[in-house]
Amino acid sequence: MSAAKHAFKAEVNKILDLMVHSLYSNKEIFIRELISNSSDAIDKARYASLTDSAVVEGGDEWQIELIADKDSGTLTVRDNGIGMNEEEAVEALGTIAHSGTKEFIKLLESREVENNPELIGQFGVGFYSAFMVADKVTVITRKAGADADSAVVWESETDGTYTIENTSKEGKGTDVILTLKEDEKQFLEEYELRKVVKQYSDFIEYPIVMDVTRSKPDPEDEEKTITETEQETLNSRKAIWLKSKEEISDEEYNEFYKHISHDFTDPARVIHYRAEGTTEFSALLYIPKKRPYDIFYQDYKIGPTLYVRRVQIMDHCEEMLPTYLRFVKGVVESADLPLNVSREILQHNKAVSVIKKNITKKVLDTLAHMKKEEPEAYKEFYAEFGRVLKEGVHHDFERRETIADLLLFESTKTKPGETTTLAEYVERMPEDQEEIYYITGGDRANAEASPYLEVFKEKGIEVLIMTDDFDDIIISGLGAYKDKQFQSAIKGDLDLGNTDKEEQKKEFGDLLEMMKEELKDVVEDVRISGRLKNSAVCLVAGEHDLDPKMAKMFEAMGQNVPQGQRVLEVNPGHNLIGKMKQVFASDKESPKLKEYIGLLYDQALLLEGDKPRDPVAFSESIARLMAEQAEE
Ligand code: ADP
Repeated sequence: MSAAKHAFKAEVNKILDLMVHSLYSNKEIFIRELISNSSDAIDKARYASLTDSAVVEGGDEWQIELIADKDSGTLTVRDNGIGMNEEEAVEALGTIAHSGTKEFIKLLESREVENNPELIGQFGVGFYSAFMVADKVTVITRKAGADADSAVVWESETDGTYTIENTSKEGKGTDVILTLKEDEKQFLEEYELRKVVKQYSDFIEYPIVMDVTRSKPDPEDEEKTITETEQETLNSRKAIWLKSKEEISDEEYNEFYKHISHDFTDPARVIHYRAEGTTEFSALLYIPKKRPYDIFYQDYKIGPTLYVRRVQIMDHCEEMLPTYLRFVKGVVESADLPLNVSREILQHNKAVSVIKKNITKKVLDTLAHMKKEEPEAYKEFYAEFGRVLKEGVHHDFERRETIADLLLFESTKTKPGETTTLAEYVERMPEDQEEIYYITGGDRANAEASPYLEVFKEKGIEVLIMTDDFDDIIISGLGAYKDKQFQSAIKGDLDLGNTDKEEQKKEFGDLLEMMKEELKDVVEDVRISGRLKNSAVCLVAGEHDLDPKMAKMFEAMGQNVPQGQRVLEVNPGHNLIGKMKQVFASDKESPKLKEYIGLLYDQALLLEGDKPRDPVAFSESIARLMAEQAEE
């Protein structure tokens, strides 16, 4: 049978092309990627063998073998793992089943990846890294437990196509055979392979073996040398998480982190401990330095790799970590779980919930400690992951105060870029201030110029500046901190010691009534403002309504947002309002007055970051009024 020729999917071609032409440093990481795939394949076979003995096929030891053949110029990475059938090989090696592909291509095109080719692994296209060093890649693979004749050979020479055909293969698993490029032959040298394996794959659980040929004196004739070939294991295979801390160097911790996370930066923190008690387990957890590009994607993988008695059960055990700590990477091993656990079992397993609770506490304690002892490092962490952590205030009712303690915000009293905690804010609150004030819906510059903060500024009251789009939901959910209620500066009726308010209500009451009638289609009420100093009017949302930016966002997402209660607040101290009152007193039906009311409402929309209802009519009105003014 002749081999069927297939074209790669377009995105694969693009990646191959970039891989071959743009990357030039750290090419040796292809070995790590292929070994990592082999190790995953053995994990899968080993796990499957727990319930299906056919997978074991005679029970040879799980291993990964490197075969360097100088005659043919090929390097083979061989494993006796799960292998692939034809369909799987086409799917796994001819397409990229990854939602981040576009992002990845963008990244590949940027210079960043040229300097950090390790980024490749992060996107799950590790296999293709083989093309950095090989002209031709041949994969011979057979599914564990299937007939010897059901194997397939897949081959590609980076010309945009690959072939696949049936073959037979004695042992189960996969051989990845690289025909090395002329100037990449160093990867056939023993010392090079030894070095690369040691550096990147030392902790791989399965032996990575290679035939090593040594010359030694001939015992029969001292003058002569003989050569002897022996299989050597290149990696130390230490399950690093089971060792004691003292035995592990920082480098080892970091390399292991890079292995499990596919991150190229060292982690910010290592959390390594063993828990004793009713449920015993070892955990090696990492807090990364950099936010992965896909942390806000739906299909982001959450949770540590789970081992039970040295067998990897699943690579992401999401039942063991709350989603708001999804930046944490690592490994958990416990002997208190059955080897054949399913997701079903995990969800209702007592030991799993004990472990989750314990890990959650440990991570939050670590962050609290970091915040206290190393505020600068904590700030860096927060800049990357604060947005994720904050979700916990919403989702983890029990720990919401603990998580609230970890939040950082800029405020009107911090320097730009500096932050405060809620505890520090409360500490600074003057005795007569009862609420924690905050403003949402913009950046710092926006907040500082906001009419909503005029009175706060005048009275020197500190306001927290919240810049994440969902802050309002988080804070409304939290409700209070240390018994102090949160109060949004842009919502509800504020009364910051305005003692004249009752007076003003009387004085402007009729005008306000008229305005209310005039604007009845767009606002619920028109009232005297307790927050304005320089601006004439502003629009305010109801105490319990979504903030307007949020509401817009939800609407844009096609969600039904209940129409909140909109109130136009009027500043009685403003010159214009005074003038309008005079006009109102002399002529309640004045057309000018009506025009002004409409313009004021549109201005309030502008101040809120929105558009006037009818921008053309709005500009025409303004232009006409300006012209009239100029004539006077
Ligand atoms: P990733 O490993 O991140 O999924 P790769 O491009 O490295 O991405 O590999 C793609 C897929 O090819 C793997 O998910 C796996 O299904 C399959 N694969 C690669 N190498 C092997 C192997 N040695 N044994 C079995 N399957 C493999």
